[in-house]
Amino acid sequence: MAIPVTKKKKKKRRFQRVKICRFCADQVPFIDYKDVKRLRNLTSERGKIIPRRISGNCRRHQLQLTIAVKRARNIALMPFTLEH
Ligand SMILES: [Zn+2]
Repeated sequence: MAIPVTKKKKKKRRFQRVKICRFCADQVPFIDYKDVKRLRNLTSERGKIIPRRISGNCRRHQLQLTIAVKRARNIALMPFTLEH
C-alpha cells in the first residue's frame, strides 16, 4: 500500500488544555512552604518543580511556589532529589 505523495502538511493541532491556576482558583493569598501536601502535588516524583506551562499556574503563583519549594527543601520538608 503506497502512501500518496500528495501528503498535505500535517497541521499540528495544539489542543488547548484549560489552564487554571489552582492557587487562583482556591484563592490562596500566599503559598505556605509548610504546606507540603500542596507542594508535593506541584513537584514531580523526583522532586522537581513542575514548570508553569504544564502546571498552568499563573506567573505570580509559580514564583511563589518556587520560593516555597526551595524554602521547604532547605528545612528538609521536601527532597532536593529522589533518594534511592
Ligand atoms: Zn495564580
